[in-house]
Amino acid sequence: MSVAVAAGFAERVRRREPLSRHTSWHVGGPAEVFFKPRDRAELAAFLRALPADVPIHWIGLGSNLLVRDGGLPGVVISTHGTLDALERSSDTTVRAEAGVACARLARQCIKWGLGPAEFFAGIPGTLGGALAMNAGAFGGETWQHVRAVETIDRHGEQRLRQAGEYRVGYRSVTAPAAEEWFVAAQLVFEQRPGAHAGEVQALLARRKESQPIGAWSCGSVFTNPPGDHAARLIESAGLKGFRIGDASVSQKHANFIINHGSARAADLERLIEHVRTTVERVHGVSLHPEVRIVGVP
Ligand SMILES: Cc1cc2nc3c(=O)[nH]c(=O)nc-3n(C[C@H](O)[C@H](O)[C@H](O)COP(=O)(O)OP(=O)(O)OC[C@H]3O[C@@H](n4cnc5c(N)ncnc54)[C@H](O)[C@@H]3O)c2cc1C
Repeated sequence: MSVAVAAGFAERVRRREPLSRHTSWHVGGPAEVFFKPRDRAELAAFLRALPADVPIHWIGLGSNLLVRDGGLPGVVISTHGTLDALERSSDTTVRAEAGVACARLARQCIKWGLGPAEFFAGIPGTLGGALAMNAGAFGGETWQHVRAVETIDRHGEQRLRQAGEYRVGYRSVTAPAAEEWFVAAQLVFEQRPGAHAGEVQALLARRKESQPIGAWSCGSVFTNPPGDHAARLIESAGLKGFRIGDASVSQKHANFIINHGSARAADLERLIEHVRTTVERVHGVSLHPEVRIVGVP
């Protein structure tokens, strides 16, 4: 199937764009059509013009995505570097668009004397991805701060939804409707005039001690099972350093899988499956990927 794009958008989309350029594992086949909207109006017009049977995927900074080597049929909407308005809307509320990087949100909240937002500094994704994943770190979680979200659906229809309309759990968010994506959020913080950049530096330094920051990874591959840590289970199953092709389980943090340069998505997926089945055999615990695996093999 070849995606028909309305005449006005033919120049604005990229066809067969390699998604390895847009994911932190640096793997992934092509997006059939890749579109980065200039703004929300253009996004709405683009969605309205798409045929109803074209699959739609969203990507932020690709820091939690394993795109298979055959790529993604249909359309990929990219928010990184666009949809990036960030403003303080009252003493304690912030309105941020989905493409805002979490690190920028953290820095700006500190400048405004708002918090606790430091944990966002360690999440190398966009706010849109953080909303979809309920990303969190160091005891903070994205949805603890969400008052409302602005969404768009495949017909270009926009809505304001209250946080209570979503079922939110540990790295999981269930939306009230399918095929509706985040374009912005209203976030609530406390006034914390004492918050300063030093706190962020301290958190990032702690992270660097225990995680292979800088290597090509997707952060934690599996969610932690109740009452335990995926990294502990993987390490004690003897899997640190286990390698398939150019992908291996990190020596520094066993819940990270590293692409050393030329791994393919298939190598990463086989390694994920090997870790999962080994931990199940050794410990009797079933691990679930936190990473979203999408596309065709
Ligand atoms: C080194 C490293 C450290 C990490 N540390 C942490 C951590 O401490 N805590 C943590 O929670 N995560 C961590 N992560 C994982 C990742 O950064 C987060 O899950 C992040 O929120 C993903 O954001 P993204 O923009 O990269 O999303 P992507 O990877 O691009 O997408 C993730 C999912 O969100 C969906 N999505 C993206 N944008 C939207 C949108 N606007 N509307 C609806 N759906 C959307 C995508 O379709 C996909 O299903 C880490 C990753 C790395 C590489």
